Parts: sequence; C-alpha cells; structure tokens
Amino acid sequence: MRHYIGKKLAKTASCKISLDKQTLDLYSIDSSSYSVKPFAVAFPKNEKEIIKILRFALRHKISVTPRGAGTGLVGGDLGTGIILDMKHFDKIKIGRGFVQTGSGVFKGELDNTLRKHERFFGPNPSIGPFCTIGGMIGTNASGSHSLKYGSTIDNLIQVRMVTSKGKIMILPKKDHATKKILGMITPQIQKRFPCVSKNSCGYRIDKVTSYSDVQKIVAGSEGTLGIITSAKLKTFLLPKRAVLMIIAYKTLKEAVTDVPKILRLGPSAIEMIDHNIIQHITYKIPNWTKCLLFVEFDDKIFKKRVKTQQISSGKTILAVTRHNQIAQWWTFRNLALTYSLNSISKQETVFSIIEDSTVPVHRLPLLLDLVKYLTSRYPMRVVIYGHAGNGNLHIRPILKKKDSALIKNIAQEFFSGVISIGGTITGEHGDGLARSEFVKLQYGDDIYSVFKKVKQFFDPTNTLNPGKIITPQNSTVS
Ligand SMILES: Cc1cc2nc3c(=O)[nH]c(=O)nc-3n(C[C@H](O)[C@H](O)[C@H](O)COP(=O)(O)OP(=O)(O)OC[C@H]3O[C@@H](n4cnc5c(N)ncnc54)[C@H](O)[C@@H]3O)c2cc1C
Repeated sequence: MRHYIGKKLAKTASCKISLDKQTLDLYSIDSSSYSVKPFAVAFPKNEKEIIKILRFALRHKISVTPRGAGTGLVGGDLGTGIILDMKHFDKIKIGRGFVQTGSGVFKGELDNTLRKHERFFGPNPSIGPFCTIGGMIGTNASGSHSLKYGSTIDNLIQVRMVTSKGKIMILPKKDHATKKILGMITPQIQKRFPCVSKNSCGYRIDKVTSYSDVQKIVAGSEGTLGIITSAKLKTFLLPKRAVLMIIAYKTLKEAVTDVPKILRLGPSAIEMIDHNIIQHITYKIPNWTKCLLFVEFDDKIFKKRVKTQQISSGKTILAVTRHNQIAQWWTFRNLALTYSLNSISKQETVFSIIEDSTVPVHRLPLLLDLVKYLTSRYPMRVVIYGHAGNGNLHIRPILKKKDSALIKNIAQEFFSGVISIGGTITGEHGDGLARSEFVKLQYGDDIYSVFKKVKQFFDPTNTLNPGKIITPQNSTVS
C-alpha cells in the first residue's frame, strides 16, 4: 500500500520523489538528537509542484514538512509524511535596501551575493553559510550580530508561501485574511509576552500590530502555517570598520553583570564563552580566566573601545581591528557547540532541550543562579556560551548517562524558573520536537488558545508539520 501511494505521488507531483531506504534514512535525521522516518522525500522545482503535492497529501491524509538544510537543533524539519526539500527555490534578486530570495537559498550564497553590493543580511547563526533562508524564517534564527541588526523576524519585509489548501499567500496584504488574523490578536494578549529581545517560542503574534507587519506571524512558525517559497528581506550596508574586544573574567557572574553597562554603548555584538570552550582556543589566555566576553563595535570604534575598558570589571586581553583577525576570533566563538561536544568524556552524554533560553539582560545573574541550583540538585555539569547581549545563553547539560525521565525533570524545573524570571524557553532555535510540549507552559491557556486559532486558520486540516508548536502533549508543572 505504502509503495502504491508513493508511486501515485511520484506520478501526480511531476517532480523528483524519493522513496528509497537510503534517502529516507538521510532525511530521518537533522542536527538534533531526534530521528523520524518520513514516508517520502519530494524535491519540488516550483510552486505548482508544491500545490500538487499538498493536494495529494490532503486527499491521502499525509503530513507535509518543509526542510531547508537540516541544521535545526530541535527536530523541527522531521516528520512521518512527505518531506519537501526546498533546494530548488534558489533565486536571489537584489533591490535597494532589500533582497528578494528563494527559501532554499543557502545563507552563504546570500552573503556572497550581498557582499558584492557591500551589503549584508543581519541575522548570522553560528552555523555560518550552511543554513537556508526558509529554515531561518522557520525558526526565526539569529546570531551574534542580531544584537544590533535584529533576528530574522525583524528583517522580514514580505513572505510568499503556499498554504495547506494549495493557495499562494503573500503577506503583508490588506485583505480579508489579514483582517481575520488581526482579529485574533489583542493588545492585552501581546502585553503578556516575555519582555526579551529574542523569542522563537510559539507564534510571534506579539509582533503583529497592523496589517503591514502581519508577515511576522510566519517567522518562527516552523513550517506549520505554510510552505515559504520566497521572501523579501531587509539588508544593511557593510560596516567600514569594526573592533572586536576580548575581555577576560574570573567568573561568569562578573561577566554578565558587565553586559547591561556595555550595552549602553551600542555594540554590534556581545557574546560569551565559558572555560570549557576557552580551553580549546589556541591563544594564550590568562589561566585564571573562567569566562570571555566578545564585544564588537562597528561605529565610533576608538571612543567605544576606550569607554568599554573604563566601565568593564574584566581585563581586555585583546582588541583587534583587522578583518582577518576579527574573523579568526569569531571562528573560535562559532565553534562553541563543537568545542562543547569535545569537552565531554566517552562515558558522558550532552542533551539539548534547555539550550536556548533567553531572559531580560539584567536578569542574566538570576539565570546563572538557576543553573547553579540545578547542578546542585541533579547529577550534571554544564557548558555555557551564547549571545549574552541578548540574554540568550546556550546551556548544555552534561550527564553521566542518558536518562529521559531525569532530562524531563530538569527541563520542567529549568523552564519554570526561566518563565518566572520573565524569560522565554527558546530565543532562536524554536520549539520542534524538543520543546513544543512546553509552549503552553510558557504562555498559559489564553495565549495558547490564540495559537490554536492561528494554526486552524492557516492549516485547518493539520497537514503542515503536525505536532510542532501545537501538540496534544502539553507539559504542566507539578
Ligand atoms: C553548529 C550549529 C550552530 C548553530 N547556531 C545557531 C545560531 O547561532 N543561531 C540560530 O538561530 N540557530 C543556530 N543553529 C540552528 C540552525 O542552524 C538554524 O535554526 C537555521 O536557521 C536552520 O536552517 P535550516 O535551513 O537548516 O532549516 P531546517 O533545519 O531544515 O528547518 C528548520 C525549520 O524551518 C522549517 N522550514 C524550512 N524551510 C522552510 C520553508 N521553505 N517554509 C516553511 N518552513 C520551513 C522546517 O520545517 C523546520 O521547522 C545552529 C545549528 C548548528 C548545527
């Protein structure tokens, strides 16, 4: 039966459809620790083929999950139905102050094209060139320079997508659909979102205030509202000069306490790594160092560098302005996930679930207290790095052995703590298979019921990436 439906799909879709074991195995994993075997993998070349696949999926009650490069960390692109590999949506068109790009365009390709016009796209995930624009919109991705240039949601001008009913939808648009979406969102609901600079949990209805920004509802929607085929994104002029300062601290607490002070100077990035990561850096760093801040300015660099040295309690061990030196130091920072995996022994296991919380910056010391409390309560140690300037820390717990019940207890306790200090359980990686069950815990019944209405409006048959963001498994706190 499975083979018969697969063959029928191949005939209907008129694009390449893979049903062989090797391809299905390949698409059953991504950069998370999850594994879900799909029914088929499709490689559509245009919107017409996507529409045919969606209509087929609807008729046969099969789910459809869009996929970019599979670098997502939460299993958001895994599904049991048809996986749409969007790689053929690869066109780039430069405009004045914006770029029109296919959703399958790789970030590296976009960077190279924009560089020729002395421009860049603000959000820069540490994975560098290897993710796609569709995946970045799907997760509302960001990076070190999001501090100054925003997350994907802040740079999304327009989105073009295919809905589960097989219709083309362009947002923003002043029409009946937009009116309906706006009708679901009230300022009272929006006020109850966490007051953080980055958030990839649930649907970002807090950013939708008028018909002209209704496209923002798609950022971070993880392929659950529509299949994005292209988008119009804001671009910036490449800064002429920059200075990257490396500041050493004796404790993580001292470092995060400095962050709000440095923020007042308008840095383009403030990133942080702990001693587990530092030990892999091939540069002589004072042996008392437990934490490094990477502070970058791309305007008034001399004045801001001097001021930072005056106000920070750490020791500036380096300040580089040459492009290749800055790039080398950012490589150290971007390899933090790899270095943290190198920091664990063969007997240990590292898990992702509490790896992306974001709190108001002045509450970072409280987040560290929460981590300290959990390490005293549970048999684990942690590696910490991340986007300190946004209050977004990647906390990687390391356990002696994999124990799902223990991981869930840690996650529940950690998330309750993060929410109680005004944070979000995910600042950039999204909900996916890892955190969708905690979305209701984050927002409560009222906001969650609006999320359900949003999903129902865009995808009434629950065909698009079911189980992500909206899920029947909701965790509560005991
Ligand atoms: C080493 C490493 C470092 C990372 N660093 C960062 C970081 O600094 N910041 C950050 O934000 N993330 C980071 N990530 C996570 C990841 O790179 C980002 O989430 C990235 O945006 C995912 O892009 P992708 O193309 O791989 O998407 P995928 O993983 O393929 O998909 C991600 C989600 O988007 C949806 N999606 C994909 N294409 C479409 C489409 N056309 N239409 C609708 N939905 C779609 C998918 O269904 C899925 O839910 C890192 C990952 C790794 C492995």
